[in-house]
Amino acid sequence: MSIETILVLNAGSSSIKFQLFKGEASVLSGQIDGLGAKAWIKAKTAEGDKIVDRAMTDDEAKNHNSALGVLLEALKAFDPNLEVDAIGHRVVHGGPNMSEPQLVTPEVLAEVEAISSMAPLHNPHNLAGVAGAGAAFEGKPQVLCFDTAFHRSQNFNNEAYALPLSYYKNGYRRYGMHGQSYLYISRELHNVAPEIADKKVVVAHLGNGASMTAIENGKCITTTMGFTALDGLAMGTRCGTIDPGILLYMMQEKDMSVDEVAHVLYKESGMLGLSEISQDMRELENSNDPKAKQALEYYDNRIKRELGGLVACMGGIDALIFTGGIGENSAKTRAGVCKGLEFLGIELDEAANDRRASEAITISASSSKVKVMAIPTNEEAMIAAQTREICEAL
Ligand code: ADP
Repeated sequence: MSIETILVLNAGSSSIKFQLFKGEASVLSGQIDGLGAKAWIKAKTAEGDKIVDRAMTDDEAKNHNSALGVLLEALKAFDPNLEVDAIGHRVVHGGPNMSEPQLVTPEVLAEVEAISSMAPLHNPHNLAGVAGAGAAFEGKPQVLCFDTAFHRSQNFNNEAYALPLSYYKNGYRRYGMHGQSYLYISRELHNVAPEIADKKVVVAHLGNGASMTAIENGKCITTTMGFTALDGLAMGTRCGTIDPGILLYMMQEKDMSVDEVAHVLYKESGMLGLSEISQDMRELENSNDPKAKQALEYYDNRIKRELGGLVACMGGIDALIFTGGIGENSAKTRAGVCKGLEFLGIELDEAANDRRASEAITISASSSKVKVMAIPTNEEAMIAAQTREICEAL
């Protein structure tokens, strides 16, 4: 099947992000926000021309189906003759079995629905996007690309929690997240640094959500995120790894409800909680408040702590790659993480590091045993590429 135009959708609870690809080029991107309340749609071309930027009516904003009808109109306004050949979806959770993207069939949808309780904040909305796109683009193939798929190559030691074994069998596992970003970076390394592409690489995806993954030969050895998106690094508002006994203490001794605990862990913790200023890295870096400095140092230290574990599990490190909004743009974070890691063979070139990575940049010193780079990620391009691969094989 020949595939020219692919629509990539990332459907959340109240938003739908979209990007249109012609061949490998992204030609249009935008998003619908505020679904179910006061919704807004905007889209602009790759050149920055606005195609639509308006409030949606209550009828249009009723649900994902009605919203995708409006998106279809925006695509037509962009190009009246546009034919979408295939749709690629970001789906957060693929459960224990989905290690590859999947063409949408009734069986695949049933399996994703069955595991939806593991990602109640995400999967049901992703699936609503699939149903809506099915109605808006009748008869066109759809592909599901899972955030967890990349991490299915972990062995038992790295995937299991030390709970009774029956829990592992029942799906209590380290699933990991940001898989589309890790896959993109793994593939991109073959273009920008082929000498390390198949070696031992740690990738730090640092955005509002953040995780790190040890990758050897393009395959995940292990990752910092776990059963949910709370585990691992300290994030914008999420706490990352904490002693689970704290949760018991909050509920048993402090009478906090499950919802209250969840709110603290997901919304009030991380950089926002520690700094009491902001979750936004730029704001913290620009602040003179000692609490901002303390939070930033904490952030870097948590990355180091996880890096040590990942490197030990992988048995070494040949390259460290920073990506995501913070990894690509924050020279301070990269410098803070690499400081004191000379014993691991990591030496930064301060001048090379002192810039934003609008394209792949090498920031390690020429004497550094470990190559350190910052590479912009592109999860949507990865979803489009996989959608194309699957649909062209049909
Ligand atoms: P998301 O996980 O929502 O996709 P992003 O990958 O866009 O998030 O990352 C958002 C984070 O990147 C924010 O904390 C933001 O402050 C940070 N960031 C973006 N640009 C810069 C910059 N120039 N310097 C420092 N941090 C930056």
